[in-house]
Amino acid sequence: EWTGLNELREKFLSFFESKEHMRLPSYPLVPHEDASLLLINSGMAPMKKFFLGLETPPRKRVTTCQKCIRTPDIENVGKTARHGTYFEMLGNFSFGDYFKHEAIAWAWEFITEVLKMPKDRLWITVYQDDDESIEIWNKEQGVPLDRIVRMGKEDNFWEIGSGPCGPCSEIYFDRGEQYSCGKPTCGVGCDCDRYVEFWNLVFSQFDGDGNGNYERLEHPNIDTGMGLERLACIMQGVDNLFEVDTVQNIMKHVARIAGVNYKENEKTDISLRVITDHIRSTTFMVGDGVLPQNEGRGYVLRRLLRRAARHGRLLGITEPFLYKVCETVISENANAYPNLVENKDYIVKVIKVEEERFARTIDQGMQLLNDMIDKLETSDKNFEKVMPGADAFKLYDTYGFPVDLIREIIEERNITLDETEFTRFMEQQRERARKARASMGDLGWEEDVLADIKDKGKFVGYKEVSAKAKVVA
Ligand code: ATP
Ligand code: MG
Ligand code: MG
Ligand code: MG
Repeated sequence: EWTGLNELREKFLSFFESKEHMRLPSYPLVPHEDASLLLINSGMAPMKKFFLGLETPPRKRVTTCQKCIRTPDIENVGKTARHGTYFEMLGNFSFGDYFKHEAIAWAWEFITEVLKMPKDRLWITVYQDDDESIEIWNKEQGVPLDRIVRMGKEDNFWEIGSGPCGPCSEIYFDRGEQYSCGKPTCGVGCDCDRYVEFWNLVFSQFDGDGNGNYERLEHPNIDTGMGLERLACIMQGVDNLFEVDTVQNIMKHVARIAGVNYKENEKTDISLRVITDHIRSTTFMVGDGVLPQNEGRGYVLRRLLRRAARHGRLLGITEPFLYKVCETVISENANAYPNLVENKDYIVKVIKVEEERFARTIDQGMQLLNDMIDKLETSDKNFEKVMPGADAFKLYDTYGFPVDLIREIIEERNITLDETEFTRFMEQQRERARKARASMGDLGWEEDVLADIKDKGKFVGYKEVSAKAKVVA
């Protein structure tokens, strides 16, 4: 049954409220007092303090819809049906309260009774040694044994370093033959887009010491994560995340500006999806207080914006445009994330300033990069093609190309980067910058951007969101 993304979010949260969970707002994308993580990448990440017993949760049962950023997925974006660098994760959490029986029963109830997903399209995976979960799925929920697949540690055991960890069980939706890669081995767990993993139920029942020794926890926890866009993709019967109702409107805006039609050309489609994804992630990052920089999360932001700008060029867009699409991201998310609306002028301005900066050099830089590639390609065919570190450094330093973007572009042409030489140039530059700062005070990028936007009113969103999260927590 077709259901809008916003409605699905609400259905999930109110379902778990009816199971006595406390609804909390999404935490900001910037982790609070957690140096181990650059950006929040799951619903569980901001709850770690509760699982580790460092803080007492406001309630033993909590439900959220959490904004997430996963840059490791960047290469998949636009190519698979199911990956974005930005997405929302629905979750229900038990802090030493209910465990497997309830987590499985409620997940099944939500998807088969509330959402009425056809059972014959659903598949379950469990951790290979977790017989208990198989029993529950089979005996208590009636899932046939041939629909339950055992998987290894890689996929079905959740663990980061030491601390609470445990097996997980995932729910997949079979989108049908037409999405299959056609390989004889194609089945649950295949990389193609036929069987889509959409819900991960983590049973954190052990305390691991990081060396493979596990002790059973007296009060095990539940942490689940379901991608909202993936769920919407399934419920709306569309091809991929970017065709989901609210996301599609953003992509249409990009297509309008580019003057191209979606679904006419695979290459163009990839660029449309990449831009749609990156403008979503960057709008939310700026909305949570991140500014473009050459390091840390500011670098993630800059890289995404500049990568999107490059794909804009590939579509033939020659003027800054991301800041316009940003407005559609904000209007599509106005109800769920009012802080975007409150900070609209600020967010648009930050994106525009960054876009304009890159616009000044991108064409010349691309021209130079193409010349460099041509030169390498016409050199001796028998040698492995390596771009000198000095060339990459010039593109970085003079033309503002993030190094990951350079790597990506040259890799498409089977060229690698001389990383050692590049690193040496970077270190020399850092040293120069350090000396310059010492002699003339810090005139960092951040202040630059801030100066540019100061007429646009104060930024209030980040503080407010964290304050809200704090009040409820
Ligand atoms: P995949 O194997 O498809 O990359 P995952 O196993 O990395 O997914 P989890 O870490 O288990 O994902 O996260 C829980 C849920 O969050 C997933 O089942 C999926 O619904 C959603 N999700 C994860 N990564 C993404 C992404 N890049 N874009 C959209 N949704 C995602
Ligand atoms: Mg993944
Ligand atoms: Mg997976
Ligand atoms: Mg998973």
